[in-house]
Amino acid sequence: EFPITVRNLSEAIGRPAKSIMGYFFQDGKMVTINDELGEEDALEVAMELGVDLEIKRGRDIEAELLASLDHDDDEDTMEWRPPIITILGHVDHGKTTLVDRLRSANVAAGEAGGITQHIAAYQIEHDEQALTFVDTPGHAAFGEMRARGANVTDIIVLVIAADDGVMPQTEECISHAKNAGVPIIVALNKMDLPEVDDQKTLQQLAQHDMLPSEWGGEYEVIRTSGETGLGLDELVETIQLTAELHEYRANPDRRAVGACLEAFRDEGRGVIAWLIVQKGTLKVGDDVLCGTTYGRIRAIYDDQDNEISEAGPSRPVKVAGLNEVPTAGVHFFVMEDIEEARQVAETRLHEGRAEVLSTRGKPRTLEDILSA
Ligand code: GDP
Ligand code: MG
Repeated sequence: EFPITVRNLSEAIGRPAKSIMGYFFQDGKMVTINDELGEEDALEVAMELGVDLEIKRGRDIEAELLASLDHDDDEDTMEWRPPIITILGHVDHGKTTLVDRLRSANVAAGEAGGITQHIAAYQIEHDEQALTFVDTPGHAAFGEMRARGANVTDIIVLVIAADDGVMPQTEECISHAKNAGVPIIVALNKMDLPEVDDQKTLQQLAQHDMLPSEWGGEYEVIRTSGETGLGLDELVETIQLTAELHEYRANPDRRAVGACLEAFRDEGRGVIAWLIVQKGTLKVGDDVLCGTTYGRIRAIYDDQDNEISEAGPSRPVKVAGLNEVPTAGVHFFVMEDIEEARQVAETRLHEGRAEVLSTRGKPRTLEDILSA
């Protein structure tokens, strides 16, 4: 819980701390810069200083939103949904090449050549079942997502280039993956390179408490190449088998919640956000809160840029309509109306500003984020 001290309030509303203390002094109350204020006092003094601060309402909604994420819907509303597979690994070990290859192998041959643009997530069909793949824009975003409780991942594919072996970021990924408590499949990649020593990597994995199944452990290691396509069928089959051991389900029939994977500003279409729906169904016209941004969904595009009208659980989509570019890793929620979405977004902006200022100078490392 973010404390409303005189200092934080001052930074959040952009008025001097002196004015806030002065207000209480007139009332015969002495407060210092670090004193915590009650929400009512904070609202009152903010109003007195000409700022319409809506902490209370924002917080209540916030609490409801968080509860709606954790809350399991009734058994009889739950339906099968595709598993969400996140690709993690050290930079340049071949994650993007691998996911792009998996995707182009899956779309019609005529289209394959047309795929030039990188995509953050997409679905493929395997044995008539959809699988959703997420190419993490970086493992920091994955950490952010976890820190915010947006555990969108069901299965992790850990990509390790065989010529490099386990690298520092691989180690970080291993610990994230283990903390996330989801199954991990290793893609031992770049096996097309001459004279790569796959045994070295297996040994390193064993040293990291990830004994390969071929050595009697529980971790499947699939030899792959994003260049030649080696092992990709086996990788997909292993994913499918892993998915079958779990029953991934969600209620499609409710207001959508999910996570933002990536976002950018597009010259023609304005703000575009890659969202992945976790529960419910996202529809054109929905009023959405996404981190500190909000807006009415103007258009939804699937992973091949076709316009669609709605998207159910595990479906990755691009949406247009948010007022600003949201941060990767934040949650999105469909709200009652645009006014509610705006209020929470703005309250978060105020609080966020105070939080950033009050922790200025403190390094914000991956570890900080993960232990937050
Ligand atoms: P990422 O940072 O993990 O997403 O890695 P990329 O997919 O961008 O690949 C990094 C570099 O490795 C690129 O130059 C790729 O062409 C190359 N690369 C990726 N996969 C393979 C592979 O299986 N074999 C070989 N020889 N090179 C690969
Ligand atoms: Mg990449």
